[in-house]
Amino acid sequence: MKKIAVIGTGYVGLVTGTCLAEIGHEVYCVDIDSQKIENLKKGIIPIYEPGLEELVKKNFESKSLSFTTEIREAVEKSEVVFIAVGTPPMADGSVNLEYVKTAAESIGKAMNGYKVIVNKSTVPIGTGDAVQRIVSTHYQGEFDVVSNPEFLREGSAVKDFMEPDRIVIGNGGEKGRGVMTELYAPLPGERVMTNIKTAEMIKYASNAYLATSISFINSIANICEKVGADVTEVAKGMRLDKRIGRYAFLDAGVGYGGSCFPKDVKGLIQIAHENNVSFDILDSVEATNEAQKQSLLPKIQTLLGKNLHGKRIAIWGLAFKAETDDMREAPALTVIKQLQDRDAEVVVFDPVAQEGARKILTNLEFANDFYKAVENADCLVITTEWKVFKDADLAKIKSLMKNPNVVDGRNVFEVELMKEKGFNYISVGR
Ligand code: NAD
Repeated sequence: MKKIAVIGTGYVGLVTGTCLAEIGHEVYCVDIDSQKIENLKKGIIPIYEPGLEELVKKNFESKSLSFTTEIREAVEKSEVVFIAVGTPPMADGSVNLEYVKTAAESIGKAMNGYKVIVNKSTVPIGTGDAVQRIVSTHYQGEFDVVSNPEFLREGSAVKDFMEPDRIVIGNGGEKGRGVMTELYAPLPGERVMTNIKTAEMIKYASNAYLATSISFINSIANICEKVGADVTEVAKGMRLDKRIGRYAFLDAGVGYGGSCFPKDVKGLIQIAHENNVSFDILDSVEATNEAQKQSLLPKIQTLLGKNLHGKRIAIWGLAFKAETDDMREAPALTVIKQLQDRDAEVVVFDPVAQEGARKILTNLEFANDFYKAVENADCLVITTEWKVFKDADLAKIKSLMKNPNVVDGRNVFEVELMKEKGFNYISVGR
């Protein structure tokens, strides 16, 4: 059992802290957001993440997990200190390291003996060295810095943390690596022991590669639509090639969003520029994704005509993907803006993102359920692949709509079935 401080209690920090408590450690989760910490102490979880609430409550009650705004106290008590603060993009796409540096400084000032400082935030190559420098200006004793990037996916974060494909441990020297090996001992998954810069690069390379797969398959989908091929069958055929792989990220749709892919693609483009390396593929990945986020509008206009003024359009799904309430860079936001710019009447429904959405979306209606959303609608547009949508009663949907038009940006329904049920149905690449 180790005493661990996790600095930053967002998606990654809260999941990391909670799961480390669950596997037997004593964890202090720290955040500068006092409201968030007060809520967590009362059992109010700031994010929607399947299975997380139960684990937080269980470990909080058993006292293996605690929440605080006192970084000094948490660091002083701990042998391992994780940095899990945000690394948002700046206007030019480069990574804002302000929060990481502030956290490193606070850690440095609170150091009272040997500790392993673990960088879990996604950071540009070389940030580990910067953390080392910042801490050592405040503390001259022994400590190790490790890069341990996180690969969890929002929506299945707890499972991903508990059953990782791999755990990457960059640097740390023999002592630091020993501590990290013991800390993760209860978890399965391959261990990748490497140097700090390689570990930092593994994270960017993985996310940029996954984003590339999505833009790649979306471009294939756009050709499929022109030539009459079916992109889902194409992806199935591709995945059978072992060099591509059965889990390859090849689901065509309305594009990627979220807090990671857009930011990390931009970040890696910037890192390439700074190192005078041309990485044109990534520029195209980004441009393709931006175009894809706008690709539903012409499909809606194919069904409703160019003029959308006064047309009632229902949007199913606000989150950037299913099983999360995260709306950062969600394609739904692009679609909604396009429709509002054309004076359409927009009504939205999302099973969990609705509350957060009320704070950022205006001039539209929120429906209480997905049937209510389609009442009297001229068109239904699907932007998130929530499982509840798949199970919808299609006959009921059709009877509620003014006109049975569906534009499916996530290929939730089967083309044949939708035709059979009498919908005018356009999806992606089929
Ligand atoms: P987030 O914005 O949800 O949370 C960051 C938290 O850090 C916030 O609660 C903020 O108040 C807190 N914070 C900032 N400065 C602090 C300080 N000095 N001391 C204490 N707390 C501080 O961010 P996130 O989505 O959890 O991402 C964190 C990092 O993990 C990023 O680098 C991200 O790229 C990476 N990452 C995210 C995911 C994901 O799915 N969200 C997955 C893998 C990696």
